[in-house]
Amino acid sequence: MDYDLIVIGAGGAGLAAAVTAAQAGLSVIVFESETEIGGSTQLSAGMLTAAGTSVQRELGVEDTAERFYQHYMDLNQWRVLPGPTMAYCEEAAAVVEWLKELGLELPAQESSSAHEPGLTRAGVEDVWRGHVPKDQGYGLVQVLDRARRSLDAELVLNTRVSELLIVDGEVRGVIADGVEVTAPNVLVASGGFGQNPDLVAELYPEALGAGTYGFSVAAPGSRGDHIEFARQHGLSLFGHGWGLLLVTASFQRYHHWQSGFPPASRMYVNAEGRRFMDEDAPYAISPGILKDNDGFAWAIFDEEARLRLPSGYADWNSENILDQVALGLVHRDDSLPGLAVQIGVNARSLETSTARFNQLMTEGVDSDFLRHQTLQAKGTDPRLAPIENGPFYAVKMVPGELVCTHTGLQIDANARVQNQFGEPVIGLYAAGEAAGGVLGERYVGGGNSVAHALTFGRLAGLHAAARVAAS
Ligand SMILES: Cc1cc2nc3c(=O)[nH]c(=O)nc-3n(C[C@H](O)[C@H](O)[C@H](O)COP(=O)(O)OP(=O)(O)OC[C@H]3O[C@@H](n4cnc5c(N)ncnc54)[C@H](O)[C@@H]3O)c2cc1C
Repeated sequence: MDYDLIVIGAGGAGLAAAVTAAQAGLSVIVFESETEIGGSTQLSAGMLTAAGTSVQRELGVEDTAERFYQHYMDLNQWRVLPGPTMAYCEEAAAVVEWLKELGLELPAQESSSAHEPGLTRAGVEDVWRGHVPKDQGYGLVQVLDRARRSLDAELVLNTRVSELLIVDGEVRGVIADGVEVTAPNVLVASGGFGQNPDLVAELYPEALGAGTYGFSVAAPGSRGDHIEFARQHGLSLFGHGWGLLLVTASFQRYHHWQSGFPPASRMYVNAEGRRFMDEDAPYAISPGILKDNDGFAWAIFDEEARLRLPSGYADWNSENILDQVALGLVHRDDSLPGLAVQIGVNARSLETSTARFNQLMTEGVDSDFLRHQTLQAKGTDPRLAPIENGPFYAVKMVPGELVCTHTGLQIDANARVQNQFGEPVIGLYAAGEAAGGVLGERYVGGGNSVAHALTFGRLAGLHAAARVAAS
């Protein structure tokens, strides 16, 4: 055999496995299809969800893996795999400590967003579990890659693995750019399929619900090669139809870091013109609420709100709103009844909803949808300016931004891949978006996917090391 472990993909999952295995003395090679490492992990905030970490303890946050597990399973209605999910909940904290030992800066301080290092709450967590590292996903990838280099784990860029070599239920290696490379252990860490429209249509059709307003922010290498591997070798897939979609305006084309954010003082109404949700509901649940309401919301705001939009963002800035009016993607009218006619909702409902919104939100207590609690949790004043002076604006909000996909090779608690009969393929592992079983229909909170990638990458590395030691 040429190596002890072959890793397919130099994103978060792949690098975590490579470093773990190399620390245990294994000879490792990582193949990366693109010209640079990092994949979606590098594009992310690098936020890691984990329970029972030293960061939480230093901040007095009491948390346990059991509590995390219960919350995770409940939110996913127990439709994910309990064993691997428990392994994830139990091991994520150890991954955070390991990353800190490798040099990741993760200060024990409260953070108000995914951009500020420290501990935050970004989803619907019952306690603060979102660990934001310094320099976000880029910083995380750099720390892992520095460790990889210091341990002499090889990296080959610009080299796409096209085939797995599996003989009699055991993995033997891969074909990388037409060359056979052998190893008794192979990790599939090739990310998701967010950039492969055919696979999205087949395996996550809901992501096409936004039609022409949809876009993907996943890294270019997210072509879903793990699905092809599954088909070549009869491997089991799990997580059909699941992934993460963010609610975006019809004119948005970028992740919110570039796009910016809609005005705080905005109201979402449904196709009837009635307010139906907390406009700041976390992304773990907002796409699901839209799904139950014809798949979209109209965001209503007024002239003052438009003028208050900060400059410097690509999509949500006051000038662009006017440009979008000209393009027909934002509707504008001097009166609310006129706006209602333009967007085809009931004028009386829209006026009633607006009056109620103004009453509740100016008082700072949203007794209908509890938005004040969401705002307070973000450290924002829950009292919002009323929507009262025209011209008024309406823009369609859709689950338009595809972030990650969750259909992957079915794994067990040690990241071992199973075939269609439920048998582990000896020596074959999957981690990250290429793995199925833990990432569910509901994205549990900020850091769910990065922590998942690194945890199963690390578990795969540890299991492969144990196999090599035992051989
Ligand atoms: C803009 C953005 C923000 C996000 N923010 C967060 C966040 O803050 N927290 C969170 O938890 N999640 C976040 N996510 C999701 C999260 O980043 C990813 O789900 C996770 O990092 C995936 O890790 P991975 O290792 O599975 O895949 P990746 O990091 O995408 O790595 C896969 C690698 O494999 C390579 N590859 C693909 N096919 C092959 C092949 N055949 N041969 C060789 N190499 C191959 C790819 O080029 C890529 O480099 C975000 C995603 C995006 C796009």
